[in-house]
Amino acid sequence: MPAKPERAAKQGIFSHKSTHVQNLILELNDMADRIRRSGRKVMALHRGDPPVYFPTPQYVIDAYIKALKEGRTGYSRAQGTPELVDAVISRYKKYGIPLGEKDVIVTAGVSEALLFINNAFIDRGDRAVLLRPYYSQYMMRLTAEEGDAVMGRMLMEKDWRIDINGLRKALAKAKEGRRPKYIMITNPHNPTGTVTERRELKEIVDVANEYGLVLVSDEIYDEIVYNHHTFTSIGHVAGGVPHILLNGSSKNFDSTGFRIGFMAIPGTDRVSEAMREKFSEYALARLSVNTPAEYAVAEAISNTKEHDKAIKSMVDAIQKRVNLTVDLLEENPYLTVTRPGGAFYVFPKLDMKSLGFKDSREFTTAVLEEECVQLTGGSPFGEPDHFRIVALPPEDVLRDAIDRVNGFCERHAR
Ligand code: PLP
Repeated sequence: MPAKPERAAKQGIFSHKSTHVQNLILELNDMADRIRRSGRKVMALHRGDPPVYFPTPQYVIDAYIKALKEGRTGYSRAQGTPELVDAVISRYKKYGIPLGEKDVIVTAGVSEALLFINNAFIDRGDRAVLLRPYYSQYMMRLTAEEGDAVMGRMLMEKDWRIDINGLRKALAKAKEGRRPKYIMITNPHNPTGTVTERRELKEIVDVANEYGLVLVSDEIYDEIVYNHHTFTSIGHVAGGVPHILLNGSSKNFDSTGFRIGFMAIPGTDRVSEAMREKFSEYALARLSVNTPAEYAVAEAISNTKEHDKAIKSMVDAIQKRVNLTVDLLEENPYLTVTRPGGAFYVFPKLDMKSLGFKDSREFTTAVLEEECVQLTGGSPFGEPDHFRIVALPPEDVLRDAIDRVNGFCERHAR
């Protein structure tokens, strides 16, 4: 038996840092596998993986195959093939955000960009600002560099709007210690599905300006917006404040397995210039990303006629599935639910007192055991009283799964 990570670190096998590297969203996978092996079917509502439900469009698959047939199987330009970089530049141009070739760095998913950012900015004891609830990888990558979070909040009772006053207070208090390096926002948001309003973005920019923070905006769901919401990129309002836009092919281009992300650093200031150089070095250090996938994603972005069709049909279906999920969960008196405007997650709050669970980990474990529905507890997002449901499966699957969750709550309520 290999030693457990923490024990191994103590025994001097692995670094202490390595004990933080984990994916809590998948923490029930072993249990789900055990249930499957026992012959029962598990309904997986825990992983935001669109191609499982919406096949990657054929024109993108064809472009991947073409790249392979043309022998594009070697390392590519480390910061991204010129074709993909050009495609990313035109995409942002359409948004009204001008970029040059050096402003774009292609990564192995946004996940690799998060690793680059934290490794480049954070030494032990350095700080960064996160907003709770946060996407789990942000905290994991920060703590893996032995950094600490200055925590802001989004408020469920205010439709998950950012608590700017609370954030200012947390930052004023943090003035006693090391100055935080960056502030991370997600728009549209995982796990709440909130689309950040322009007014809020402006306030965040003001805060970043005041405290000398680099703005990092993860906009990986920026085309998955519905229910009359509109997306604004932080790039539209950042002005002279140094900022990094994170995006990629996984969600908007329905190709999580390609592992293609991109960082865009549009600023003309000194910090942005330094970030471009630094992240270019990070790209060079790992040689290349997945070359044929770069060609496929270049085509996915550039063929706007095909993409517009594909994204419209996916977003229409997602809107229906998310709204159905919310409607069904609203029938459950032990949950408080908000209606998302983007992405494809629903993040209800549990009435723990009535349900008699210690936290959502205990709740999701029991739901999996008794109902064979795999959900994600709220703790990986910093909210132990919530759970996350992925509203991507077809409507009949969602109905069945949520019926089971609602029945489970009825049975356990006291
Ligand atoms: N950022 C957010 C907010 C996510 O929800 C996810 C995946 O679910 C990622 C990043 C990971 O993206 P990628 O597949 O590009 O690594």
